[in-house]
Amino acid sequence: AMRNHGIGSWPARQARSRPGAAAVVHRDRTRSYAELAGRAQAVARLLLDLGVERGDRVAYLGPNHPGFLATLFGAGLAGAVFVPLNTRHSDAELAFALRDADAAVLVHDPRHAASARALATGGLRTVDVAELDGLPGGEPVDEPVDLDDLAMILYTSGTTGRPKGAMLTHGNLTWNALNVLVDVDITSEEVTLVSAPLFHTAALGMTCLPTLLKGGAVLLEESFDPDRTLDLVERHRVTCLFGVPTMFDALSRSARWAEADLGSVRFLLCGGAPVPPDLLRRYRARGLAIRQGYGLTEASPSVLLQPQGDERVGSAGAPAFFTDVRLRTPEGQPPEPGAPGELQVRGANVVRGYWQRPDADPRTADGWLRTGDVATADDDGHYRVVDRLKDMFISGGENVYPAEVEAVLREHPGVVDAAVVGLPDPVWGETGRAVVVARPGVTERELLDFARERLAGYKVPKSVRFADALPRNPTGKLDKRALREQEG
Ligand code: ATP
Repeated sequence: AMRNHGIGSWPARQARSRPGAAAVVHRDRTRSYAELAGRAQAVARLLLDLGVERGDRVAYLGPNHPGFLATLFGAGLAGAVFVPLNTRHSDAELAFALRDADAAVLVHDPRHAASARALATGGLRTVDVAELDGLPGGEPVDEPVDLDDLAMILYTSGTTGRPKGAMLTHGNLTWNALNVLVDVDITSEEVTLVSAPLFHTAALGMTCLPTLLKGGAVLLEESFDPDRTLDLVERHRVTCLFGVPTMFDALSRSARWAEADLGSVRFLLCGGAPVPPDLLRRYRARGLAIRQGYGLTEASPSVLLQPQGDERVGSAGAPAFFTDVRLRTPEGQPPEPGAPGELQVRGANVVRGYWQRPDADPRTADGWLRTGDVATADDDGHYRVVDRLKDMFISGGENVYPAEVEAVLREHPGVVDAAVVGLPDPVWGETGRAVVVARPGVTERELLDFARERLAGYKVPKSVRFADALPRNPTGKLDKRALREQEG
C-alpha cells in the first residue's frame, strides 16, 4: 500500500497494472510507466539525499523533456513542491521566482547551465537534468502526501503586474484532471502531443496529466514547429493535441497542411487566449473540429470547455464537471440575461491563494475565484469570453470591450492582426485606438467604415495606426500593457 496519494504516486500506481505501457515518448525513445516510475523514484531519493524536506521547493528550468516529468513526479513522491520556471524569462525574473519560492534545489537543462550557475546563490543546489538519467533508484521513497498538500507553485505570466506564485495542491491537479477526463474521452490508447511548454498549466493540465492519469502516452516536443508537428502526427499517429490559438493558426498555414494525414487525430483542444472564429472555420473546412476551452492558472487550469460536437463559433463552452461558474457585475450582482459580467469560479480545482501573498486573495468574500475576465452566458449556460476586465474602457459612459472590436476588424479581408486600446479623450473620457497589421493598400477610412457598419458608434475606434507587428507574448496573448504605453 502506498502512503502517497499525490500526483507523484501516479507513475508507480500505473506501473502496478501496466508496467510495460508507453508513458513518455521523446526523440523517438519510448519510456514505459515502469521506467517513468523508476526515474521519479530515483529523483525523489536524490532530493531526500540532498536534504530536501517535506514542503521544500524544487524548481525546474528547461523545455519539455522526460526530466521535467521525472522531477515533477519525483518531487511529489518526496513530498516536495515543484516550481516550474519559464525558460523565456530573463535571469532577473528567474531570480525573483527562485527567491520568492525560496527554492532548495534547481534542476536545469544543460543549455541553462550558465543561468543556473548565476542563479545559485545562498543555499540553492543545482542539478543538471542530464545527471538524472544515470541515477540509481536507491531505497524506495513513499512519503505520506495528501490531496490537500501543496504540489506546485506556478508563477503567473505577469501580464497583470509582478508575478505571483499560484499554489496548486495535489487535489487541485487531480480534480482538474478528472474534470478534463469527464469532458474529453482520453483513454489508455491515447497518443498526446505536448509541444506547448509544460511550465504553463495549460499544456500540463489540459492534456499531459489527464493522459498520464489514464495510462496513455505523451509525446514531448521541446518547441513547436508547424511542419514538424504535422510529421509527428503522421509518424506517431497522434490522437490528441492541445495548443494556443497561434499554434493552430501556424499549423494551418504550413506548406504541408493540405496534404498531411491527420486521420488519427481525435481531439484538438484550443485555449489560453481568444480563439479567432476564422481559425475554427478554417479547421472545420478540413473536417477538423477544434474545441475551445477557457482556463487560468488559478483553476489548474480548466474552467470551460466546448463539448464534443458543439458547433458554436465563439463559445468557450460549458463549465467543467465539478466546477461552478457565475457572472457578476462590478456591484456584485448577477447581470441581466445575455449581459456581460465577470466570470467567477468555484470548485476543487481552484487554488487556495498565492505563495506568501495573503494580501492578494483572488476570491470574493463569499469564496468565488475572481478571474478578471468578462463573459456572457447563452440561454443554456454555455459561456462566451468577452475580454479581460482590465482591458475594458469606458467611452461616453458605455463599456467597450476591445476584444469585440478586434474580432470585427480581423474579419476585414485586408487585416492580418488587430488590437484596440482605450486612450484618454477630452470629450468621451476614453476612445479606442486600433493598431492594425494590414495588407498593402488598406486605408484607415476603409477600416473605420467597415467597423461602423458592424458596431455601435461608441465602439468604433477613433483612429487607426498601421504597424508591422503587434506585441504578443508566447502564449498568443496581446501585450496590452506594452501597447497602451506605446500609444498613450
Ligand atoms: P497574468 O494573470 O499574470 O496576466 P496570465 O493571465 O497569462 O498571467 P494564465 O493563467 O496563463 O495567466 O492565463 C489565463 C488567462 O488567459 C485568462 O484569465 C484569460 O484572460 C485568458 N484566456 C484563457 N483561455 C481563453 C479563451 N478561451 N478565450 C479568451 N481568453 C482566454
